[in-house]
Amino acid sequence: MVAMDLVIKNGTVATGSGAAVIDVGIEDGQITQLGGTMRASQSIDAEGMFVLPGGVDPHVHLTPPRTGPGENSWADNFEIGTRAALAGGVTTVGNMSFPRKGESMSEGLQRDIEDARTQSLADFFHHPVLLDPDEKALDEIPDLAAQGHPSVKIFLSFKRFDRNVEGFLKAMRIAAEVGSVMLLHCEDAALMGCCGELVREAGLTSHRHYPETRPVVAERIATERAIGFCEISGAATYIVHLSSQEALDVCRGGRARGLPLYVETRPIYLHLDRTRFDEPDGAKYAGAPPLRQKQDQAALWAGVVDGAVSTVATDHAPWTLEQKLDQSLGPAELRQGMAELETSMPMLWALGVAQKRISLNRFVEVTSTNPAKLFGMYPQKGCIAPGSDADLLILDPHETRTIDGSQMHSAAGYSPYDGWEITGWPRFTISRGEVVAEGATVDASPGRGLLVPREPFERP
Ligand SMILES: [Zn+2]
Repeated sequence: MVAMDLVIKNGTVATGSGAAVIDVGIEDGQITQLGGTMRASQSIDAEGMFVLPGGVDPHVHLTPPRTGPGENSWADNFEIGTRAALAGGVTTVGNMSFPRKGESMSEGLQRDIEDARTQSLADFFHHPVLLDPDEKALDEIPDLAAQGHPSVKIFLSFKRFDRNVEGFLKAMRIAAEVGSVMLLHCEDAALMGCCGELVREAGLTSHRHYPETRPVVAERIATERAIGFCEISGAATYIVHLSSQEALDVCRGGRARGLPLYVETRPIYLHLDRTRFDEPDGAKYAGAPPLRQKQDQAALWAGVVDGAVSTVATDHAPWTLEQKLDQSLGPAELRQGMAELETSMPMLWALGVAQKRISLNRFVEVTSTNPAKLFGMYPQKGCIAPGSDADLLILDPHETRTIDGSQMHSAAGYSPYDGWEITGWPRFTISRGEVVAEGATVDASPGRGLLVPREPFERP
């Protein structure tokens, strides 16, 4: 009998095909044994709890896109954001890496890797953002993929997209050749520009009009375009933060035609709807795209159930309440994004699995297995199996907490779900065999997080 470092006993373990009460043996940061007799220096009794693969959240913003931390930058850096992640059961994060003015994608990436290396408490990877698809930038895509960064983010919501559609299409052809996944923000820049003008011309200044500046049609049209690019280029195409039924229906069509097309949605679109903007401080719910109608919410839940939605990722991009409620900002200018890393998995559990809306298997797929596979880190991440990293969320399905963002780890100081009573929280979070969080208390040092090596995309 081998002596392990840690054994998790008596928990209900999500194995990928189902769940079983078995013990999990961990040695040198990896899972080494499932079931059978084990001896270990440390053990955790997980009776009555679920042992799940740690969350792989492929969409977070923990590095400032412009010149550095300051007034107009997201509230969380890698240290703060990954502390929130570990408290919420997320053990790996995928950060959007924006090159700053004058930097190449690789230079921006190196800077962000350094940031994460010194600050991160959780394992991490980066998606380089392609802002200008000139020849030099296009040439970087194969090198980046070969160096273990096989993904590129582009924004159809930026005016610069329309100025060089051909360049972005070239980028997608190159991505298809080298196995890079293209992440697309699908909102049409010209339509949104026009809608913003219409709202301004009508003299509408309240945040209540935010949704009118980014309507569903802008998302649908951009999603249709994205699918056309996917179809012609053959690149694996990952639609980030999809929010509406119309856009989802378009994706369903593309997937039915066999395209390598994958859809991410975000907790706010599952849990909140447009009526939130009627609240006096409704600007705090601004995200891009905006919150939609109840029927969109229902369509997204259906997509999570039947597989049309591949991942639920946070797009964690928090601002303080003061920044969100800044009265000087018109409805088209609101700061977008919020803190979700600490609440995402517990809420999907409570409102999904516990309410029997989604199965345990789907929960594991959308929060861990699918993102690990799509972004080239499976089976190191994304499953509980011998040889995989021992990244685990031990969830207590009976623990009830009332969400209070002022007490949580993000520097946002509020949560869009403040006051919600949620049952089902992490009892322990384990990263590479180390207990890094117990309840909401995180015990991990900045810099312990590792860059996850990634393989090029292969179609499942
Ligand atoms: Zn984002």
